Amino acid sequence: MISSWITGTDSSGNTHTARIVTRGNDERYVECDSCDYQRRVSWSARDTAESHLWNAHDASGFHRRLAAGPFVVAGIALLVMFFFLAKSHMI
Ligand SMILES: [Zn+2]
Repeated sequence: MISSWITGTDSSGNTHTARIVTRGNDERYVECDSCDYQRRVSWSARDTAESHLWNAHDASGFHRRLAAGPFVVAGIALLVMFFFLAKSHMI
């Protein structure tokens, strides 16, 4: 499951993206889209991703993008819950 993306831009204007992926036994990996870089990380996955983009691809101006899926589902569930709560109070 992809938990987030780190995106940076190099001096030529190319965008490089590194993914932070969680697999099975809570193992986290940093994978680069621009090359074959793949590394298992135990902590500071974001730092690892940024330093790879910085060192290997001369990229800077990093942006972090979270995988929105779980948050959207949680938000909708919360809205539905509030709707039913409000409804039951009106009766
Ligand atoms: Zn790379």
